Amino acid sequence: MSELCTSYIDGKWTSGEGAERIPVISPIDETQVAEVAEADANEVDRAVRAARAAFERGAWRHAPVAERQRVLRRIAALIRENADELAQRECANAGLPMRQIRERHVQRAAANFEFFADFIGQTANESYEQEPPFLTIVRREPVGIAALVAPWNAPLALATMEMAGAIAFGNCFILKPSELTPLEFVPLLELMKEAGMPDGVAGLVNGRGPVTGAALVGHPDIDVVAFIGGTETGRHIARSAGGNLKKYVAELGGKSANIITPQCDLERALDAALVGIFSNNGQQCLAGSRILVDRTIAKEFIANFVARAEKLKVGDPRMMETEIGPVISKAQYDRVLSFAADANVLTGGKRAEGFDKGFYVAPTVALAEDNSLPLCQEEIFGPFATFLTYDGIDQAIEIANQSEFGLVAYLWCDHMPTVMRAQDALQAGTIWVNTPLARDLRAPFGGYKNSGVGRTGGLSSRNLFTEEKVVTMPMREFPIAKLGQG
Ligand code: NAD
Repeated sequence: MSELCTSYIDGKWTSGEGAERIPVISPIDETQVAEVAEADANEVDRAVRAARAAFERGAWRHAPVAERQRVLRRIAALIRENADELAQRECANAGLPMRQIRERHVQRAAANFEFFADFIGQTANESYEQEPPFLTIVRREPVGIAALVAPWNAPLALATMEMAGAIAFGNCFILKPSELTPLEFVPLLELMKEAGMPDGVAGLVNGRGPVTGAALVGHPDIDVVAFIGGTETGRHIARSAGGNLKKYVAELGGKSANIITPQCDLERALDAALVGIFSNNGQQCLAGSRILVDRTIAKEFIANFVARAEKLKVGDPRMMETEIGPVISKAQYDRVLSFAADANVLTGGKRAEGFDKGFYVAPTVALAEDNSLPLCQEEIFGPFATFLTYDGIDQAIEIANQSEFGLVAYLWCDHMPTVMRAQDALQAGTIWVNTPLARDLRAPFGGYKNSGVGRTGGLSSRNLFTEEKVVTMPMREFPIAKLGQG
């Protein structure tokens, strides 16, 4: 499979002629699986104009809610029907284990569309009555053209959350996938057209961040920017969106603490700690990458964790039994292993055995002396767990909060007063208590501190993707002061 990934403008793929070509390398075996035909500023401008024209034609934004629901549900059904192709492409491209793509990512992509189909059929608008007898209603209109910039670590699951949110509320969008993972979006955009999306409503431009991404988010005719990716990129895009006074949401990096207390089911906590850091090849924003264990139970817990980490099935992600595949790129491979150089590595910290090609990192566990070390402060974004020990819950909370990030915090504890104290004191957008990685799409998701700006999900997505318009009118005749009568 080596194809040319071009732009999708007004319901058609462009030829890619004359565009700079960027090779797309599979992390599985370092072969080239595709080429990106990079959209330059002119092509991005064409994409934005096509989206604006579709928005003005109004076929989608003025479509009745029932029609938008029907199309969203049809997209979800088509994603499920085409799960094999989508999964194969995501696997070849991102190196994520096939089982995880089939069981989680593709299902989540479909669920994102279903969720917003249900949501727009259920939400009520605000209205207020006052004296003198005015009725004020708050109407919601689509914002217009949404620029959606997505990362490579869970391409389908993450991008579809923003795509579904944007179109559910009547907007047009232009997606800029990561230049490392363009492949899965080719069938997805076609399935959306097959489901009945009018041309121009869903658009896509491919290319590198500083070229295509920057041209898109800085385009003056973009109305809202939704970004998922790294914190530094988020800052860049915020300047651009802010400079144009556009709405902006950013879901950024994390270095989430997973606090294991002695008062919990330690076997479940161990299972969840492994899932928390090693699923998705360790490349997830909400990874529980700093595991804080009470000193009284640390020795045994860490030994059990290491034993299980050593038994993880690292391998070709196309095999259903594989639990950990390669990291996304050579650069990411080098970065992950660089953190092992000065660390107290308990296992891993090197290339996984048995692979000449591909970016396979052995599941790595390190024990850190101090939370100020880079491996406790920086997002490593790979199969790399860092342990810290603590004395008492107050110290655990202090360590958890000593971070520039605040996306998620995990707590394993059955003692209610401790749970209540910790959930109150932890600085993170989501606190999972005795719960591994469980997002409810109705709830707001986003980060404290450098983990993000704003929230998505349910009402938060509605706020992002709609403009509020207040309409006030009288319910009865009322007296108006008579000026100018002498
Ligand atoms: P990245 O920031 O390098 O890239 C993300 C996207 O931004 C890509 O499409 C890239 O091409 C684009 N981009 C880069 N520079 C740009 C610029 N100047 N202007 C416009 N666009 C630009 O992130 P990544 O390496 O693809 O993804 C990994 C990061 O994403 C991690 O930090 C991870 O924590 C974060 N992430 C966060 C969430 C969340 O919900 N909080 C979810 C997944 C990933």
